[in-house]
Amino acid sequence: MLFSQIIGHEDIKKKLIQSVKDNRVAHAQLFLGPEGTGKLALAIAYAQYINCSNKKDNDSCGECPSCKKYNNLAHPDLHFIFPTTTNKSVKKDAESDLFMTEWRDYLISSKTYADLHSWYNFLDVENKQGMINVRDASTIIRKLNLKTYEAEYKVAIIWMAEKLNIQAANKLLKLLEEPPEKTVFLLISENQDELLNTVRSRTVLVKIPKLSLDEVQNALVQEFHCDSVKAYNTAVLANGNWIKARSFVNDDNDDNLYFRLFQKWMRYCFRFSASELIDFIANDIKPLVREKQKEFLAYGLNIFHNSLLYNNGLKDRVLLSQEEMGFLNNFAPFISNNNIDLIIELFEESINQIERNGSASLIFLDDSFKIFNYFKMK
Ligand SMILES: [Zn+2]
Repeated sequence: MLFSQIIGHEDIKKKLIQSVKDNRVAHAQLFLGPEGTGKLALAIAYAQYINCSNKKDNDSCGECPSCKKYNNLAHPDLHFIFPTTTNKSVKKDAESDLFMTEWRDYLISSKTYADLHSWYNFLDVENKQGMINVRDASTIIRKLNLKTYEAEYKVAIIWMAEKLNIQAANKLLKLLEEPPEKTVFLLISENQDELLNTVRSRTVLVKIPKLSLDEVQNALVQEFHCDSVKAYNTAVLANGNWIKARSFVNDDNDDNLYFRLFQKWMRYCFRFSASELIDFIANDIKPLVREKQKEFLAYGLNIFHNSLLYNNGLKDRVLLSQEEMGFLNNFAPFISNNNIDLIIELFEESINQIERNGSASLIFLDDSFKIFNYFKMK
């Protein structure tokens, strides 16, 4: 993995490279960032750079013997542990070592943008939750105590360190504190609160922010050749999460679904027609899975934002399709500085409530009545 293959995070790449140049690579680091950021990719690129025998100023060479093995994630001194559980081929005593082939295939197919949901799907574990257990800890300790095969540094990457159970974490603590010489631990995590304190306190934090709108938009244009409007709209919905952005682009069965639903919903809100609203929610909103309900609200937020730009003479900054622009022409006048903050707050709160398993019927009905009142404040 080269740094140049990773979307965004330019500041972090520079800092990581500088730490190698300055010869101050901390032996236990925690790459903490939300889902859909390049934290695992950065950790692998960093490990590759540390071991590259022909380092360039801002990246690995990609061609030395070490890089070639890293390119296939098959360097004998690069170790991974990650959450696992039983599936059809491993029926008991799951541990990372038993899933190494699957793990490499998964990383290659996901281009190292990994998340638990798709990893568990890849393993076909049904509804079971994985963890990193004491067998993983024992195996990694044994491996790290062997002599280095050929690299300058041995690197152990612990993906989703919040899934370390207590026994596994306790077994690793000493190693995190005093690793064997020339050994680097890179822990990857999405949730600081779920991470054991004993583990967190032994690592140097590398905070990875979510990707910016521009970073996601540009990457969509480059990787999927989207036009700029589609890339922008997809990036808004993805909210800094590359895994989501990628899946939205691939999932183009109905490009206009949210637009059609939004038009309909706003029409019924204007009319304040309870029976139409109740039917709409039952037939169009309830059948959507929660993730889609949240995306739909995020789509609505984007339309509200654009309406405000439109009203304030900033039409050239509105990035919407022609059809959506036609809708905005009539809709935007109802959005103003008097109600925009209330509307944003309402939608953001609704997204949170849906995330916390709130009833979609109640949330959307309540939103509809409030929107009706907010429109009157224009
Ligand atoms: Zn190299």
